[in-house]
Amino acid sequence: MAETTGIAWTNATWNPVRGCERVSEGCKKCYAEVLAARHSYKGGWGEGLAKYVTRPDGTKEARWTGVLKPVEKMIDAPLRWKKPRRVFVNSMSDLFHDKIRDAYIDLVFAVMAIAKQHTFQILTKRPERMQTYMVGLARSYNRLEAAARDICYTLKYEDIPLVRWPIQNVWLGVSAEDQDTFDQRVELLGRTPAAMRFVSAEPFLGDIDIGNAFDDTDGEPTSKYGKLDWAIIGGESGSDYRPMDIEAARAFIQQVKLMGGAMFVKQDSGPRPGMRGRFTDAEWALKEYPA
Ligand code: SF4
Repeated sequence: MAETTGIAWTNATWNPVRGCERVSEGCKKCYAEVLAARHSYKGGWGEGLAKYVTRPDGTKEARWTGVLKPVEKMIDAPLRWKKPRRVFVNSMSDLFHDKIRDAYIDLVFAVMAIAKQHTFQILTKRPERMQTYMVGLARSYNRLEAAARDICYTLKYEDIPLVRWPIQNVWLGVSAEDQDTFDQRVELLGRTPAAMRFVSAEPFLGDIDIGNAFDDTDGEPTSKYGKLDWAIIGGESGSDYRPMDIEAARAFIQQVKLMGGAMFVKQDSGPRPGMRGRFTDAEWALKEYPA
């Protein structure tokens, strides 16, 4: 799996799992599903993970099969990357899919805890599992240590834990495409132990009012669920993209800034990825990261 990436807000991707299943409207044009279907020929890395199905109008569409595969040979890849980088974890899947065993996710977290030189960005559309998993892991340092030992490392010095909790170089985020998914997923994110929390509003398909999730009724904006450190916004791309409401996108950006979050403006909706489109110079210049 390539360690470099065209994803603007990260430096590298790391895919210890492949395969997924759609959960909401934001998955409709999943690029991972398209790539997996493209490589689903015999012997290809997408074999068994995705396939082409025929729509009623006769055109073909990529669809996940529902099979997920751990890619065990990739599990320790970040330990070999010496140069510090931001690493998007599982760009070809969802780490918190219920078909991935806790013990395997423990290994992923052990690698991230060991590879302190990197910043790991985990994005999920399954925040319920993430919340349950993270609360469970927080209660058992021995689980993390056992996973580290499985790959011949230790995260203890004698009996003293070497890793501060929550793991400082791991950012946890949720994808949200509209108000319902934002409210539901950000609420769960806020109840999840994390050093840094973020939301990716891509594809931005609706008018997302952060005020629904963050309480600013008393003057000072305060979060009901904890601080939202970072937000990414992007419209959908591709030939049959769903247009983004640019005024709603502007309102979203303003609210994130008002709440003190860092903002990354990724793209307008349009036929090609990475398009500036209707964003002003000042909006397009917003390529921030949390401190
Ligand atoms: S959760 Fe992510 S990887 Fe899985 S189908 Fe949806 S967009 Fe694709």
